[in-house]
Amino acid sequence: MSLLRNPLAVMCLVLAVVLAAVGAVGAADGPSIVAVDGSTDHGDLEGIPLIDDVVGMAEVPGGGGYWMVASDGGVFAFGDAGFHGSTGDIDLDQPVVAMAPTPTGDGYWLAASDGGVFAFGDAGFFGSMGGIELTEPVVGMASTSTGDGYWLVASDGGIFAFGGAAFHGSAGAIALDEPIVAMASVPEDGGYWLLARDGGVFTFGHAASFEGSAVDPTRKVDALSIGADTDGGYWVVTGDGAVHSFGPVEREPSSGPACRSEAVRGGSISPTGIWLYTTPIDVPMPGYTSSATAIDGASIEEQLVYAQACQPLGEPGPLVTPASGPVSSRFGVRLHPIWGVNILHAGIDIAAPGGSDVVAAGAGTVIAIDVRSAYGTTVAIDHGDRVATVYAHLAAVVVEVGDEVEQGQAIGTIGSTGFVTGAHLHLELRVNGEPVDPSAHMGY
Ligand SMILES: [Zn+2]
Repeated sequence: MSLLRNPLAVMCLVLAVVLAAVGAVGAADGPSIVAVDGSTDHGDLEGIPLIDDVVGMAEVPGGGGYWMVASDGGVFAFGDAGFHGSTGDIDLDQPVVAMAPTPTGDGYWLAASDGGVFAFGDAGFFGSMGGIELTEPVVGMASTSTGDGYWLVASDGGIFAFGGAAFHGSAGAIALDEPIVAMASVPEDGGYWLLARDGGVFTFGHAASFEGSAVDPTRKVDALSIGADTDGGYWVVTGDGAVHSFGPVEREPSSGPACRSEAVRGGSISPTGIWLYTTPIDVPMPGYTSSATAIDGASIEEQLVYAQACQPLGEPGPLVTPASGPVSSRFGVRLHPIWGVNILHAGIDIAAPGGSDVVAAGAGTVIAIDVRSAYGTTVAIDHGDRVATVYAHLAAVVVEVGDEVEQGQAIGTIGSTGFVTGAHLHLELRVNGEPVDPSAHMGY
């Protein structure tokens, strides 16, 4: 491990320790491993403040351990995985982006985004593109089944073959909707698969059959990793932690998303195990997995993302009227009464006397209570199916974050907090985070 190799590293380490001491770091300090569906957990980097992000992991061929690699080339070995060296003492021009083990596990290669290849242990060096001007960065790497060569893939699908690795074609000439993010070689050296960020799979070589892809037009998450099985099938890991299998696979993966309070960054998938590596969510990351608990300091929009990322997209059910009074302003673009500009009115206004009850339009979980300049005191309720309601300009709130509420249960009172011309309720209905007109769902 090379945490203390320069003064900056020491500074970062000290900073991390201080942050942890004052409680500013709410979640795990470092990347964690999620061993999926009975896969053996060999340990992870949790608790170790890293200088650089983990960018990849690889299983020891045949099982028993795995490596994690950071963007500075630092390699961390777990279980039976031997440590064969890292690039911690090498000046990298560009960050490491991928790693591949030798067939025996007695060595590994690291690939940098500029095509530089670094060989450790028994891994032979067969050439690299370091120093060559690439139009697109290298994003993935795979080795042959005998370890006599390797391929690199760039984000435009360009394939570069070294040593005994045969060139079977590339997606460099294909107009991609989304960039390539990973590759996997077929076990018999007959070809390879490329995985695009939208889940599209491209197959090259006679033995690399196309068995389907995870492209989903409603996706909120990116495809991250692809792994080969022994019989021509493959797995794709997506950012919600779901593991998708295609074609014949020896070991059925877990089907559901792993809803956690960490973001899934990648994984290693093989016949002997499936592991995901995750990092704490510290910035808003639409589409990444989360627990359904609220996070201190996050906005309502962030809370919605955190709470609903793992939910399947559904339709709003029937809603009850949350306040007793007429609709005074409808959903749609309107001249804003205070700002004087045309702007989307993202909900409906219900005029009601100040202090009268505001009730939950549907059953759900209170996921956010926020005081905002325009919305004033605001409550957000998650109804599941990525459906939420938001109640603004409240005078008082009588629920707490995390409360389960029934449809019609009082959550607060009508007020005039925020930018308003008089007491009313501003009600929003959000589906998949986007505001839609609530009127049709509550009989107005
Ligand atoms: Zn309004």
